[in-house]
Amino acid sequence: MQQKEREQQMSPAERRRRTEARKRRQKAEQRRRQKKLLLYISGGVLAAVLIGLIIFGITKLTAGGSKEITAQNGTFVIALDAGHGGEDIGQSNGETVEKNVTLDICNKLKSMLEDQLHYQVVMIREDDTRISKEERVQAANDSHADLLISIHCGYAENTSETGAVSHYKKDSSASEDLADMIQEALEDVSGIPNGGAREGSYEIISSTEMPAVLVEIGYLSNMEEAGSLSDDQYQSTAARGIATAIAKKLGQSS
Ligand SMILES: [Zn+2]
Repeated sequence: MQQKEREQQMSPAERRRRTEARKRRQKAEQRRRQKKLLLYISGGVLAAVLIGLIIFGITKLTAGGSKEITAQNGTFVIALDAGHGGEDIGQSNGETVEKNVTLDICNKLKSMLEDQLHYQVVMIREDDTRISKEERVQAANDSHADLLISIHCGYAENTSETGAVSHYKKDSSASEDLADMIQEALEDVSGIPNGGAREGSYEIISSTEMPAVLVEIGYLSNMEEAGSLSDDQYQSTAARGIATAIAKKLGQSS
């Protein structure tokens, strides 16, 4: 018997019941489709959020999170900033004056980095002139150096305080890593007590664009260390320690 004939033989009540059942089935099917669509959409949104988080994580890692220092122009360019200069003499103790110590060590470091390690060096201060903090930052950024080392001496109320301290750029693990290596090398290679690495807010490290470390080689407030700091041999050993750390850091990065 054909479907149509069967329906014609049905009582009106039976036909109504069947029609309503069909409507219910259609509605249920419609609800199922909507649910499925909603599931697809929420799945897509979730995937997009996840991809976004992954990209954000990678970007973060390659910015401040990366320990790497890269040579932007094939050869590593290192900016050296000798603290103070001109009428700004820095700290002093007897014959030893900070502005002279910083320039002497930077000159020795420059020779080692260029002649033995074949890096390119940019000196922020080359002679006994006063340079403002802003000019130093500008010069460092204009040089497009891959890393910056600023040299200073420490000074403390407590005159028995000795040793080197390295201050690194905030939120820069490359800077922090280099500061740790400098401290280690100054101790092992130069025999200078390790005063530790710490985060610093000096303008020359916070406002410059490259990984940066400010090293206080020793305390001018300590009589013995002040004497050492003006000694030519001692300055060379200190420079050798810093050069060793830079070579190690850049060797790992290249
Ligand atoms: Zn200083």
